[in-house]
Amino acid sequence: MEGGALSVRCGNGIEVSGAGISFHLDPRSLSTKKVPQGTVCCTSHAHSDHIPSTFERKGPNRIVSSEFTRRFISEIKGRAIEAEHCDKVRLHDAGHVTGSVMFEMDVEGQRVLYTGDFSPRDRFRIQGARPVKVDVLLTEATFGKPQYVFPPTERIFKVMTDWIEDSLSQGFSVALFTSSNLGKTHELIHALRDLEPRVHGTISESSRLLQRCGLDLEIKEHEPGDVSTPGVLIGAHGQSMTQEIMSANRKGRRFRKASVSGWAANGNKRGYVDEQFAISDHADHDELLAFVKACSPRMVYVGHGYASELAGEIRQKLGIDACPVPSAGQQCLLNY
Ligand SMILES: [Zn+2]
Repeated sequence: MEGGALSVRCGNGIEVSGAGISFHLDPRSLSTKKVPQGTVCCTSHAHSDHIPSTFERKGPNRIVSSEFTRRFISEIKGRAIEAEHCDKVRLHDAGHVTGSVMFEMDVEGQRVLYTGDFSPRDRFRIQGARPVKVDVLLTEATFGKPQYVFPPTERIFKVMTDWIEDSLSQGFSVALFTSSNLGKTHELIHALRDLEPRVHGTISESSRLLQRCGLDLEIKEHEPGDVSTPGVLIGAHGQSMTQEIMSANRKGRRFRKASVSGWAANGNKRGYVDEQFAISDHADHDELLAFVKACSPRMVYVGHGYASELAGEIRQKLGIDACPVPSAGQQCLLNY
């Protein structure tokens, strides 16, 4: 979209440009073929759908990011990523996962905030994102539909730990299915440490990587086939842990299974679990709207997830111009 001197569009990540400066936000490429001179590349956090997958073959690959995110990407990609410094961009905690940040940029005299994935909740060891007053806001919309409203984290965490302790006292083992990435999964491992959870192979590699990047995380790895006593097993959704549990069942070890995911908020339970707990790294629907309102922007661009739906609600409920981030060649007509 072209509006005045400020341009926002999908391209190499989300591209925000003005005269003489361009930001590529969560770019997939750091190659100079995709990153023209004068461009500043900013990576919000180290989830796989937000980090670069192609790099400059020779010479530096530079990003603006937190130190943790830069180290994590360097480790996982096996190449040196250098820190970029730019006095037109400020970093704010995004409250999403370890090392996640939002970027506040100065483009053509307008203040622009890119949230990346974010959560406003203080939870576990993570401080939530705080609103920033800006002219233009670029927000995510992973849970941008009204059915996705999460209970208070302390309450749902208490319900979950009570359920785990009841299950253990009744002789069951407990399997918690989460995601394999950094973030909620590893905060859960830390928060449940008194129950000495075992880490399944599906997340043990990412757990060790986090340790190497400096995260204080105690890991007890699960020994395949060890079902001698009731215990807590944490791993990723998918066949691998399900098969392990079926094998344990055949040896007489009974499991109760639960999913830990924001998608649980819609009430649709996965067939292979007994319980589910709506704990997420993201803002829920109501938090997204509240965050947008508190930033009091004149324009909002929505990316990731239910972008059209959330943009419509922002226009109708908040009276703020909003549209999904346009693809290259598309236009988003706003009243400014
Ligand atoms: Zn993420």
